[in-house]
Amino acid sequence: ERPAGPSPTVVTRRAKRGDRFADLQELKDVKTQQAVADLIGVQNPFFRMHDGCAGATTHIDGKTAINFASYNYLGLNGHPEVRDAAKAAIDHYGVSCSASRLVAGERPIHRELEHKIAGFYGVDDAVVFVSGHATNVAAIGHLMRSGDLIVYDALAHNSIVVGATLSGADRRMFAHNDLDALEEILVRQSHSYERVLVAVEGLYSMDGDFPDLQRLVKMRDRYGFWLMVDEAHSLGVLGATGGGIAEECGVDPKDVDIWMGTLSKTMSGCGGYIAGSHSLVEYLKFSAPGFVYSVGMPPAVAAAAIACLDILKREPDRVAKLRANGERFVEKAKEAGLDVGDASGTAIVPVMVGDSLRAVHLANRLLERGVNALPIVHPAVPERSARLRFFITSDHSFEQIDEAVALTAEEHHGLAKAGFGIKMAAA
Ligand code: PMP
Repeated sequence: ERPAGPSPTVVTRRAKRGDRFADLQELKDVKTQQAVADLIGVQNPFFRMHDGCAGATTHIDGKTAINFASYNYLGLNGHPEVRDAAKAAIDHYGVSCSASRLVAGERPIHRELEHKIAGFYGVDDAVVFVSGHATNVAAIGHLMRSGDLIVYDALAHNSIVVGATLSGADRRMFAHNDLDALEEILVRQSHSYERVLVAVEGLYSMDGDFPDLQRLVKMRDRYGFWLMVDEAHSLGVLGATGGGIAEECGVDPKDVDIWMGTLSKTMSGCGGYIAGSHSLVEYLKFSAPGFVYSVGMPPAVAAAAIACLDILKREPDRVAKLRANGERFVEKAKEAGLDVGDASGTAIVPVMVGDSLRAVHLANRLLERGVNALPIVHPAVPERSARLRFFITSDHSFEQIDEAVALTAEEHHGLAKAGFGIKMAAA
């Protein structure tokens, strides 16, 4: 007797020639969205080609635009000292370290960077990974396991969610920045688990706000969970000297169990880090698959991050300028009748639009007028909170900010008045 196999229709589908991935549902969804946009003449704003080093301005299709779409928060990408450090590392080490660090990839520059990061937080040690996203996936996915509990903010980055999902632990989400809701979960459920991880961000990449870290530390002491803070957007941004959310909230960094951050924002490169106790770092270095079975960070990227940390320490004025720019943006936007949600007035400011199609069209109109800001649309955010997201840097001038806000307000109010959006497309 033949064993049961796939049905004849499945076999026919599988045997199809040509592009055998064309049936993937996500691809069909993208095509449907594109068809709706085409119907009313809205161009796709994604994957636009930029030339050169994106800072306060960028070059798109041969035109210069004021740029609010790159997280080069302190303007260090392209800084001569950072470029020189990266070039010198390439001259000395080559482009790659050509092996996992565990075997033949370890270079002094890796440890130099890790010691600097650990010193930044005043904790025992740190370990760097080749991707920020992979850092969360590797660390959370490897640290937690079935029978554990992971609780995270509703706006936590995808990498936290993926890490949590892969770990096999139970997962709970609390409403964005609602620490009462977090406490309720802990009161009701944390006693059923031996190990509980609470993951939050230092500065939320969608709303530009941050959690009450003092209260989180008090809760950690009370409930005994591991507290993890992702500083992707807060390192070099929050705190008077760019010391991050701990400095901003007046918390001793040693009171956070797991510091995570990326090197792709303020640090002008790519990759991520985990900083904390000796045991945490040793555990990851010797056993996390995303570290053990992955190549070491390219030496030039490590060198660039070291140079950025040195500049950050030497030139805290950059942080003050970034804050002044963020506050200026928020103030001007509110004056112009724009909704910026709960933005704290630093590196990230959303301008709420409330309709994905209108957000895309608004971004396109602004680009035509010399301002580059990207739309964030459903499903990345709920439809009613579709928005434009502005990344502010210390390199922007007040003139650039004022101009961008004025144009955004003019276009946004015009589109709202005309009723431009999804409802119109559906009519
Ligand atoms: N964490 C947060 C909060 C992020 O916003 C991002 C990406 N922007 C990441 C992790 C992943 O970092 P990377 O882009 O450096 O891989």
